[in-house]
Amino acid sequence: RRPPSRGVFDGTASTRDGYDVDLVANVADPAEADVAANKGARGVGLFRTEFCFLGRGTEPTVDEQVDAYRAVLARFAGRRVVVRTLDAGADKPLRFLTPGHEENPALGVRGIRTAVDHPDVLDRQLEAISRAARSASAEVWVMAPMIATADETREFVAACAAHGLDTAGVMIETPAAALQSRWLLADAAFASLGTNDLTQYTMAADRDLAGVAALSTPWQPAVLDLVRVACAGAAVHGRPVGVCGEAAADPLLAPVLVGLGVTSLSMTPRALAAVAESLARVTLEGCRELAALALDSPTARAARDAVRDAVRRQG
Ligand code: PEP
Ligand code: MG
Repeated sequence: RRPPSRGVFDGTASTRDGYDVDLVANVADPAEADVAANKGARGVGLFRTEFCFLGRGTEPTVDEQVDAYRAVLARFAGRRVVVRTLDAGADKPLRFLTPGHEENPALGVRGIRTAVDHPDVLDRQLEAISRAARSASAEVWVMAPMIATADETREFVAACAAHGLDTAGVMIETPAAALQSRWLLADAAFASLGTNDLTQYTMAADRDLAGVAALSTPWQPAVLDLVRVACAGAAVHGRPVGVCGEAAADPLLAPVLVGLGVTSLSMTPRALAAVAESLARVTLEGCRELAALALDSPTARAARDAVRDAVRRQG
């Protein structure tokens, strides 16, 4: 394969020695799906469905949901689209689903946890995703946000199966999920690392708070070590692991994630070209060396500096 041309993403990416890495897009609605397709994305690694319904006081009907999902799926006919069930709560409250006041909303009823009190809402969403999947020809995978336990995973996978959604996965964005990945992935078909929340919960640092921004970086060796553990647990079952947090869009971090065992990177479409170029400069073995260097660093800054210097040497 020829190295990618500067600034242009042709839909595929691989390391210098030809190891393919799936580079796909994060989208929140049909307009973003258009942008992603125009930037060369051949699939969606994270469809944040809650953005279709923010600001609504009542639950959208199944028909409304089918229309919203189909509009995104239609732009990726024949391609994989990973649809995330509603990640409501914390910074993204949905009035029909999430509780009013919570002292610590980031630690509260958000994501899959809303299904405890509202299993019917999850059920209707899965019905809508299933109907949209049948009418559009995309390959639909479904995943749940904020999973922390194997029980949540098993229940989610069963709920998906009841709607004929056979490829059900989990987001790994809590340290518990990363540490338990070998149990979660016994049931889940795939995992996607939400490094934004994984960083927040590992470092105990609000992802939106400027005062703790220095802590809030996925270069933290503690975060990278959890990525390593999560990948190792998934490998026990031969399950694929992607990253769909901001970390995937960092051209210097992308080869480190690949070296840790990640096989798919989902990101804002404008980052695709730079990440593809970065991967094309290193070999898979080089990625593993970069990962080892980062893991062996005492601080986030040391990890980044070590990887930057090693990339220069390898290149
Ligand atoms: C994440 O937490 O990394 C993620 C992709 O989910 P969100 O940013 O939507 O919480
Ligand atoms: Mg998240």
